[in-house]
Amino acid sequence: MRKNLENSKATRHYLSVEHISDHDLERYHLGMVVDEGELTALEEHVLACPECAERAEEVARYVDTQRAAIITGGFDLE
Ligand SMILES: [Zn+2]
Repeated sequence: MRKNLENSKATRHYLSVEHISDHDLERYHLGMVVDEGELTALEEHVLACPECAERAEEVARYVDTQRAAIITGGFDLE
């Protein structure tokens, strides 16, 4: 299993290190990740990791709530 991952030519950065940070999940959701390699790695990790997939949904909800707050002007963000 581990050998297959190491031999894969795809970037496994996010699989081999830690989980994706909330900050990166947020950037991913907002479409701020423009580096193709990073984007692929993020997507692959989320697909392979149920934990991060769940957190990605939480971040998406959080970001959308903040966005709605910005639009309605009910939230004071910097
Ligand atoms: Zn993860």
